[in-house]
Amino acid sequence: MHTFPRTWLDAALRHRARWARTVLLSVIAAAVTLGLLAPAAAFATPGDDSGDDPEGRISLGLRTDGLFTLSGHAFDRSDLGAPIILAVFQDRELTHSFAADAPAPELRPYGVAGKGIDAAFLPSTRQAPVQVCVAGINIGAGENSWLGCSMLDARGTSSVPGSTTDPASEYVLVNKQNPLSPVDHVPGDLVDLATLGVPSANGHSLREPAANAMRDMFEAARASGITLDATSGYRSYATQQSLHEDFVSTLGQSGADLTSARPGYSEHQTGLAVDLSSDEGCVLEQCWASTLGGQWVAANAHTFGFIERYPEGMTSVTGFEWEPWHYRYVGVEVATAMHDAGVTTYEQWLGVPAAPGY
Ligand SMILES: [Zn+2]
Repeated sequence: MHTFPRTWLDAALRHRARWARTVLLSVIAAAVTLGLLAPAAAFATPGDDSGDDPEGRISLGLRTDGLFTLSGHAFDRSDLGAPIILAVFQDRELTHSFAADAPAPELRPYGVAGKGIDAAFLPSTRQAPVQVCVAGINIGAGENSWLGCSMLDARGTSSVPGSTTDPASEYVLVNKQNPLSPVDHVPGDLVDLATLGVPSANGHSLREPAANAMRDMFEAARASGITLDATSGYRSYATQQSLHEDFVSTLGQSGADLTSARPGYSEHQTGLAVDLSSDEGCVLEQCWASTLGGQWVAANAHTFGFIERYPEGMTSVTGFEWEPWHYRYVGVEVATAMHDAGVTTYEQWLGVPAAPGY
């Protein structure tokens, strides 16, 4: 069983503060990445009491929804009440940490029952098998040990309950590497937002599930004193073509590509994307993020099934500059799961390659 070098981690380990833990885990991650620590291949053996490190039994697996699972238990034999943190490494990079604080009836004979773990987490990639290693950490005592590693393979799985290539799917992925197919696809269930009472100064439409969700979101916003407007919605191939040509004539091709999708590559053509504004100005400008409307939408959109599609600082993944007004409908289940997992781009959620350019 490998342990972390105590000399530089002991002090940090004794902190219970969340920020200290974060620093600690980053240090461990760096050490693993630099090859200073090698994840052990073997699981901790049951009944191993050679030291007072956290020990336990964990199992790693792949769920049908495409998430990896971590279950089992971990505890410190010499310090049964101590909280145990499980740090998850994927291909030597720290990706998640969980508290082992779920019920663990199998530990009752030891006089400890609350050190179970039953968690699910995103694969770092769906393009290749991943080496997943789990370390147990007793933060109070400064004790650490590897609990085990496993090769997991999420290839061919998806973390959304539907097709990401069918243009009629609510989960279709459209970016600079993934055009709509066919490129001139027209959705079959477009609804004029005005018929639902959704303000849309330019008379836009969305696909039915997105339009209904937008109506609910606008009503909730109104109840909070926020007046929203759907400034853009569905755009046909031909509309996107002339819009993009306008951008190219003023910004040049590379400038246009950062702010406007080429025809066939626009999420607006799916009928699932919307550009939002409020009556506070900053329409289609980044300053909208700091308006009351922009803040309300950022905080609440996921509960209606929308994600901010081009977040700040993620241009290398999405291919677009930060657009705090552009929201994409992916359904409440996926939007909420992304929000809860802290995953900000659809590309990362799907585990597909980044799409910085055409
Ligand atoms: Zn947009």
